[in-house]
Amino acid sequence: MPGPDAQAVCVVGACGRMGEAVRRALAVEPRLRLAAALEAPGHPELGREIGPGVTLRDDPKAALAGCAVAIDFTLPASTLAALRAAADAGVAYVTGTTGLSAPEREELAALARRVPVLQAANFSLAVNVLVWLAREAARRLGPGYDAEIVELHHAGKRDAPSGTALRLAQAIAEGRGASAAERLVLERAGEPGARPEGAIGVQALRGGDNPGEHTVLFVGRGERLELAHRASTRDHFARGAVRAAAWLVGRPPGLYGLEQLLGL
Ligand code: NAD
Repeated sequence: MPGPDAQAVCVVGACGRMGEAVRRALAVEPRLRLAAALEAPGHPELGREIGPGVTLRDDPKAALAGCAVAIDFTLPASTLAALRAAADAGVAYVTGTTGLSAPEREELAALARRVPVLQAANFSLAVNVLVWLAREAARRLGPGYDAEIVELHHAGKRDAPSGTALRLAQAIAEGRGASAAERLVLERAGEPGARPEGAIGVQALRGGDNPGEHTVLFVGRGERLELAHRASTRDHFARGAVRAAAWLVGRPPGLYGLEQLLGL
């Protein structure tokens, strides 16, 4: 039986769109409880009590003390800063922050040798099934079907294309036995010329308050296959992250993905 500390969660970016959704999801998760909340230095709500006995702080070390696991949806730099403190404190770490650079991803992997880290570009169960479907469709359709990905997100999203779109591109490349990095086409303007064979095109649309849509198209001659996922709220992402946190507590250090949790 986990002791009380094994249930203690620190929410990193607690006042963000996802941070608020995570706090709502924690309120109905019996295996975990909100124990600490971290926000950016200078945030107007710092010092306010945002849960029973939980004060919003800006010091990762103080916020993480006594917690078993952190759940983070922030910015790449703040994810790394809080994860460094979590590694020092032996706190497991769940992160959904997207847009990490290659050196940031390397540092995250190095820190995951000290504590268990679960990273996912998308915590939706259905999106993870979509990734699996995209890989299988690419494998079975072969090179005669051109792969294009279109994503739509709210106007405030900072990174483009979305982490999920890049993951879908990776899955399509895996299905074809190719390298995604060499096949990605992120822009078309002017005279790009004919579509390179095997290209995986990704287009990012932005607007309104949309929590996220992804469509994968396999365009053949005289037919096309479309696989689409549309999110209408952020709540299922938050529920997935909370479920991941409950799963991660007590696991050995390592970098985990949702595939292990979902058995995909
Ligand atoms: P947001 O801007 O609404 O929230 C980010 C929060 O992080 C803000 O409250 C901000 O003040 C806080 N923050 C900034 N610096 C901080 C620091 N140093 N310490 C602590 N907190 C800090 O953004 P959002 O829509 O909630 O998205 C956050 C991230 O999560 C983005 O990278 C987004 O792409 C990603 N996201 C992932 C999933 C998923 O399923 N993996 C789903 C939705 C969003």
